[in-house]
Amino acid sequence: MVSARAQGFFLSRSPAVVATSETPVVVLGAGYAGVKLANELSRKTDGHVPILLVDRHPVHVVRTELYELGQLAEKGSDVRKWAIPIQRVIGRRGVVYREGTVEAIDLDRSVVTVSGEQQPYSGLGVCLGNVPAYYGVAGAESLYQVYRLSGAMRLAHALHRAEADSSALPAGERVRVVVVGGGSTGTEVAAEIATTDWRRLVGSSSRPPSVTLVCGALPFLSGLSGGLVEHARRLLHDAGVVVDEGRNVTGVQGSEMTLAGGGRLRFDIGVWAAGVEAPPLIRALPVPHGHGGRLAVEPTLQLPGHPSVFGVGDVIEMKDPRSGALIPQTAQAAVAEARVAAENLWRLRGGRSLLPFEFHQRGMIVSLGRTKAAGRVARVTIWGSPAALLKSLVEAEYRATAQSGRGAS
Ligand SMILES: Cc1cc2nc3c(=O)[nH]c(=O)nc-3n(C[C@H](O)[C@H](O)[C@H](O)COP(=O)(O)OP(=O)(O)OC[C@H]3O[C@@H](n4cnc5c(N)ncnc54)[C@H](O)[C@@H]3O)c2cc1C
Repeated sequence: MVSARAQGFFLSRSPAVVATSETPVVVLGAGYAGVKLANELSRKTDGHVPILLVDRHPVHVVRTELYELGQLAEKGSDVRKWAIPIQRVIGRRGVVYREGTVEAIDLDRSVVTVSGEQQPYSGLGVCLGNVPAYYGVAGAESLYQVYRLSGAMRLAHALHRAEADSSALPAGERVRVVVVGGGSTGTEVAAEIATTDWRRLVGSSSRPPSVTLVCGALPFLSGLSGGLVEHARRLLHDAGVVVDEGRNVTGVQGSEMTLAGGGRLRFDIGVWAAGVEAPPLIRALPVPHGHGGRLAVEPTLQLPGHPSVFGVGDVIEMKDPRSGALIPQTAQAAVAEARVAAENLWRLRGGRSLLPFEFHQRGMIVSLGRTKAAGRVARVTIWGSPAALLKSLVEAEYRATAQSGRGAS
């Protein structure tokens, strides 16, 4: 990476803020969307436009692999596989990273507040991802989650501890794990916990946990193709996961969940994987919002009324103009959107017309334990070990490309 001074940046006393001879394009969030947007824009502008990438953590989290709880439990605090230093994922030209928390976005003044300091922008990429959605379910916030690395690590450590102590449970009892959320995240987490070889990790006297997946009122793996869903259902069954369908969790009290209709479920380890929504800072912006407070962007990914501001990734809601379906909240979509946002920021500078975003899904693979998966790729349903192999190849390719400073393919 070229030094800040060589790029025309002059560091102020605050580490979070950059004063520059040219007001930078600021990219908020160094996840899938932000890293790709910053790197693509830097490539197009050949490093001549200052780009400031802001994130609260100095690592790029490979979030799509946070369901790997067995591996996380095994690795302890060595999380290099899931957390790549940001300096390694940003390209060589023009991108400067600043660690800091984005606290406010002032769209009228074109200024963001980062860790208490004001940073003006000439163009803005809003790529701040999401936070867990609790839908007003009392007590749900006390459950574990895998949406952030810190949460996944806490869950992995709790599982490790509980399994290590499981041999002391009364005869016939096992650690009861309940995962709430029948989408791909909950499914991957449940299958992973059920198929991890805990005896190898914590000792031969440990007992495998019992795992229940509470899908709620939405159908299991809602929105995914029928063939994929059927294979996933069978593989979960083979892994010993009990799937509870049709009942929402209405409350969590200590180690008990209440279900709609009056049922109760006791648990030792509860995981909330029931969905996500826009961060409060995004919800507070005076612009149109979609479900869960996501930014309702124009087809060009611009915020309505703010042509130099682009929303990218999980933080936005957008319909595919061809099918009318919502574009999924996936890393795959985030990276594709980031490419178009970078192109449009570039075109905007040259006064050229902007491109609409069109999403072409490459495929979808859901992990179903340590060696199995089910997916739909190029209109073909795949399952079992070949699907798991393909998923691990895609993940390895992502990590390799990201670390090359190109911010994923
Ligand atoms: C367990 C799991 C498995 C998944 N598997 C897949 C999969 O197989 N395929 C797929 O395509 N998608 C998958 N996804 C979804 C995918 O991870 C998301 O769609 C993707 O992360 C969205 O990218 P993003 O850049 O919008 O957000 P993120 O990757 O979440 O990045 C947001 C960034 O913003 C930063 N940030 C947030 N708020 C602030 C703030 N106030 N100040 C500073 N920084 C901030 C965060 O630190 C983070 O770096 C999975 C998700 C999970 C949780």
